[in-house]
Amino acid sequence: MTTPSRPDAARNASPFLFGGEAEAVAGALLSGQYGHTDVTETFEKGVAAFLGVPETVAVTTGTAALHIALVAAGVGPGCEVVVPSLTFCATIQAILACGANPRFVDVNPDTLCVEPEEILGALTRATTAVMPVLFGGRAIDLSGIADTLQERGIAVIEDAAHAFGSFDGDVRVGATGALTCFSFGPIKNLTCGQGGMIVPRNAQEAQLARSLRGLGIVESQARRAVTTSYSVERFGFRQQLSSINAAIGNVQLANFDRAQAGRKKLWRAYRAALAGLSSVKLVDVDVDNSVPHLCVVRVPYRDAVFEEMRARGIGVGVHYPPNHQQRAFSSWHRKLPVTERIAGEIMSLPFHPHMSEDEAVSVVEALKESLAVAGTQR
Ligand SMILES: *Cc1c(COP(=O)(O)O)cnc(C)c1O
Repeated sequence: MTTPSRPDAARNASPFLFGGEAEAVAGALLSGQYGHTDVTETFEKGVAAFLGVPETVAVTTGTAALHIALVAAGVGPGCEVVVPSLTFCATIQAILACGANPRFVDVNPDTLCVEPEEILGALTRATTAVMPVLFGGRAIDLSGIADTLQERGIAVIEDAAHAFGSFDGDVRVGATGALTCFSFGPIKNLTCGQGGMIVPRNAQEAQLARSLRGLGIVESQARRAVTTSYSVERFGFRQQLSSINAAIGNVQLANFDRAQAGRKKLWRAYRAALAGLSSVKLVDVDVDNSVPHLCVVRVPYRDAVFEEMRARGIGVGVHYPPNHQQRAFSSWHRKLPVTERIAGEIMSLPFHPHMSEDEAVSVVEALKESLAVAGTQR
């Protein structure tokens, strides 16, 4: 097998393999069992042990995890889900998939995360769930409003697609008691190639989530192979995690310490290099407690700076164009002053564990030049 060239700062994000993934995939392929198998269950148990929770439910994607978690929490047609506009559109599509209505809220410009007061202000009689997005990998503390939410029967479902491995206080994100969803897509902190995970709040919810991901069929795949029939107990999706993807996840999990250390080191290198740039604001990810997923800065003349960076071969990106301004979601538009202002300032610097600290310094050098050129253009 050939080794691909090492991705550098020309890529905004990139999967990071430790070696061993290709062999694990080959093993899964040769086994001839590609559905939810013992390989998938090893991955579920491995993630549960890593997080310190009793059980997890593996699914095809992070989006599927969000969708199934919402359904499991009782979110259906007519329900309202409070959600930041500044997230990947997948978060919103999962809400729409339930027939529910997103109620968009603003974020803190320093963290790009929702604040408890914003959530309280957005609650209505139709609110059945709140979906905080752990932007950049940063945990979100909603303990101050937990009682209010509980009294009103509102579930908290965390979109922790960015935050695998991060800590929330003394425990990992996923072990806080909130219904939590992870993505193991290509460029996430841990990848299965494609994959997702639900951390249910209790055994009953775990059972429901498993039923929902498996077409509502009661019997396991192994059991079905040796019986003449099966029972369908409820509506369900076909969203089980293939052994092929789980095999990748098992290798990634065993090496996660390296991914975690690499991401923290790179983020800190950026922070140090950016310290001298007064016109640039680094979005804080609470690096001591989190496994950073992105390195986002807020810059003046963003579009011009973005062009200059791209012209220098630097893989900058934007996470994300606000959802409340998307055509597909225009029925749920609300005025969100902070999100609308920072939408024109945010820019994501290249960020993946292939990059060295020196490369981060070069990216910041290019940013300095780009700011100077963009500034003199007006
Ligand atoms: C990646 C991502 C998702 C969706 O995960 P997939 O595995 O790509 O389906 C959802 N929310 C956020 C914030 C993401 O970054």
